[in-house]
Amino acid sequence: MDTGLYPLGSCTMKYNPKTNERQAGLSGFSNSHPLLPESLCQGALRLMADLERFLAEITGMDAVSLQPAAGAHGELAGMLVIHAWFKQKGDSRSKIIIPDTAHGTNPASAALCGYSPVPVSSSAEGILSPEAIAAVMDEETAGIMVTNPNTLGLFENHLKAISEIVHAKGGLVYADGANMNAVMGIADMGRIGVDVLHLNLHKTFSTPHGGGGPGAGPVCVKKHLEPFLPVPRIVQKDTGQYALSEDFPESIGKLLTFHGHFGVLVRAYSYILSMGAEGLKKASQLAVLNANYLKEQLKDTFHLAYDRPCMHECVFSDRYQQAYNVTTLDIAKRLMDYGYHPPTIYFPLVVHGALMMEPTETESKEDLDQYIDALKKIAEEAKETPDVLRAAPTRCKVRRLDETAAARKPCLAG
Ligand SMILES: *Cc1c(COP(=O)(O)O)cnc(C)c1O
Repeated sequence: MDTGLYPLGSCTMKYNPKTNERQAGLSGFSNSHPLLPESLCQGALRLMADLERFLAEITGMDAVSLQPAAGAHGELAGMLVIHAWFKQKGDSRSKIIIPDTAHGTNPASAALCGYSPVPVSSSAEGILSPEAIAAVMDEETAGIMVTNPNTLGLFENHLKAISEIVHAKGGLVYADGANMNAVMGIADMGRIGVDVLHLNLHKTFSTPHGGGGPGAGPVCVKKHLEPFLPVPRIVQKDTGQYALSEDFPESIGKLLTFHGHFGVLVRAYSYILSMGAEGLKKASQLAVLNANYLKEQLKDTFHLAYDRPCMHECVFSDRYQQAYNVTTLDIAKRLMDYGYHPPTIYFPLVVHGALMMEPTETESKEDLDQYIDALKKIAEEAKETPDVLRAAPTRCKVRRLDETAAARKPCLAG
C-alpha cells in the first residue's frame, strides 16, 4: 500500500498514515496487560470510551461496543443483539431478509443466530426497491440485513422507506457498514432508520490489513438495543474514573476473552483525531470522486455493470473481452505484469465476471491515470495478442498458480 495502488474492491486497501502506527506502538498502550487494575489503565479506558463516542457520532448511532474482533464478528454480535431483543419480547422470528448484493458474510452471520435468509433481488438500478421488501417482510421476519453502500458500490437510496416497511412489521434493520469509506460524515445511518450497524476499523479507520488480521468490527446500536451489547462495557463513575462493568443483565455476554484488538482501536482513535470531522468527510468525498473518475475513464473499455454514480468502488465485467476469449481472471493476472495488485474478481456474484475496483481517497490523479492506462493497454492486448493475457503473469516470481490446489493441498515444505 505504501508504494502503489491496491484496488481490491470491498477491502478498502488505503494508505495508513504512519503516525497511527506510532501511537499504537507507544509503550503505555502496547505493553499494557488486559488484566491491569482499572486504576492503572485509565488512559486506555478513556481512549476506548472516547472512540465509542466518536464512532457513534460518525455513524449516527447511540451506543457502541468495540469488542468484536473483525467485521464478520461484528455482524455476529449485531445479529445476537437483534436475537436477544426479540427473545426478550417473547417474539421468536425465524427469517431475515438478505439482498443479493449483500456481503457473503451476512447470510452466514444470520444463520449462526438461527435465522434463515430470505433472498431478495436488487432492481435494475442495482439497489433495493421498497416494493420488493414489502412483498417479503412479514411478522415471522426479524428484519433485514443490508450492506450499505452495497457490494456494487451503490448507495441504497431507498433505505429509509425500506426501514419504515420493516419497522411497521415489528422488524429491525441491520446495516453492514464495513465500507464506511464513502459516507463518513455524510450519511447518518441512524436517521436512515438503521437499528444496528458494524464497522470495519481495519478498512476505514487506518489499520493495515490483509493476511488475516488483526482487525476490529465495532457494533453500533440505537438506544433501544444498548442493553444487549456485549460486556464488559466501559462506564464512567461519578468520580470521573473509567471502569469496566459486567452489570448489564440483558447483555448477550462476552464475545472475546478481553476487549478486542486494542492496537487497532488506538490506530482508529489516532486516525479520527488527526483527520478531524472535516478531514474524515473530505476523505469520503475524495474516495467517491476517485471511484467515479475510474468508472468514467474506463467505462468504454470495460463493460460497466451499472452505469450510475457510484460510491467508493465500481464494478466492471469482462463482457467486452469475451469476443476474444479473454476472461476476468486473465485481465487480473495481466495487471500483475504491470505491477498492480489485481482488483477483487468474480464478486459480487450478481455481476458475471465481475472486476470490482476500489481506488480509495489516498491515490493521486497521476496514480489513477497510470492504472487506467495499464488497463487500457490490457484491453488492447486482449484484442491484438490475447495469448499474452492467457499466459499472464509472466513478469512475476511465479506464473499462474492452481489456486484451488494451493488452498486444498498446500505444499508447505521445501
Ligand atoms: C470485509 C467485509 C466484511 C467482513 O469483514 P472481516 O473483517 O473480513 O470479517 C463484511 N462486510 C463487508 C461489506 C465487507 O466489505
